Amino acid sequence: MDRRKFVKTAGIAGLAGTAGLITACGNQSGTADCGDGSTARSEETFEWKMVTTWPRDFPGLGTGANYLAQIIGEMSGGRLTVKVYGGGELVPPFEVFDAVQRGTAEMGHGGAYYWKGKIPASAFFSGVPFAMTASELNGWYYYGGGMELYHEIYKPFGIIAYPIGNSGTQMGGWFNKEINSVDDLKGLKMRIPGFGGEVLKRIGGTPVNIPGAELFTALQNGTIDATEWVGPMNDLAFGLFRAAKYYYYPGWHEPGTALEATINAEAFNALPADLQSIVVIACKAANMDMFAHFEARNGESLEKLLDEHAVELRPFPDDVLAELKGASLAVLEDQAAADEMSGKVWTSMKAYMEQVRPWTEIGSQYFVNRR
Ligand code: CA
Repeated sequence: MDRRKFVKTAGIAGLAGTAGLITACGNQSGTADCGDGSTARSEETFEWKMVTTWPRDFPGLGTGANYLAQIIGEMSGGRLTVKVYGGGELVPPFEVFDAVQRGTAEMGHGGAYYWKGKIPASAFFSGVPFAMTASELNGWYYYGGGMELYHEIYKPFGIIAYPIGNSGTQMGGWFNKEINSVDDLKGLKMRIPGFGGEVLKRIGGTPVNIPGAELFTALQNGTIDATEWVGPMNDLAFGLFRAAKYYYYPGWHEPGTALEATINAEAFNALPADLQSIVVIACKAANMDMFAHFEARNGESLEKLLDEHAVELRPFPDDVLAELKGASLAVLEDQAAADEMSGKVWTSMKAYMEQVRPWTEIGSQYFVNRR
């Protein structure tokens, strides 16, 4: 009998128990030493769950989660399968982190700033006001010390995290009145997560965070006065143009927001080395894929919003942005002073930005402004 087929069948039938560790060389160890110096991979199969903070199949975010699960399954030849759950299907959208920590699901797909109430420093790992674009942020994650810090902040929770997508520069949000001065933001109840919300609070607004799927209703029935969500592709999908008249840019609060995969460390450590590697590389591939998806679809979605839905597009006035920038830096410095880990992360980010920004200015930024 074909050994692979036998092991798979045995695994499904439960005959192999919780750890059906049989390798292609026939021993009972996860590391398969074939005795001739070569190694063979374990044929044990794993079935993971991935809980997400997004509606099932939501463009970009939900489809990005599906893609990550799909490529892990394909690259592992079915030895590690990941079943994706939309927000609320297995756990509520904002309980993804807790579910992964508990082991209810082995993986989560969400945004690090959603957990800032539990881990203040997590907000630095998604979108930081007036900080980095997607390209700059990826540089920090992979080559600027960001990944090590990311792993450090989640370690006490038994979670390993990787960036798995980027929305690119977001939009400033949906408003039912024009924003001509910072005073127009005062008293405004707005859905805006992470540091952006802290900045709004500092200038006199009231930030709230509610799951994306509830935004349209909240805006329409007046529970909130304004909202930001992501950008044209995602905002069009939720029909936010039906509940607000003005669409402001830029997303000063989220200049290049990273999404994240959270992984239960115990479940990850139980995988053979090649499957661990597949998970890590799949996260890297999914990171690039989601960013490309947003880049490709935001333009056509913006065109639809303007041409078919008569959305009023507005830039925030420069003096409003200048005040928001001042408030943002104050919020970031205050958090860095109040929380040791936040201080460590913000110091790393600032040092990296000091080096990378001059390059961006003479590289992509100079070119884009003149092409
Ligand atoms: Ca957002």
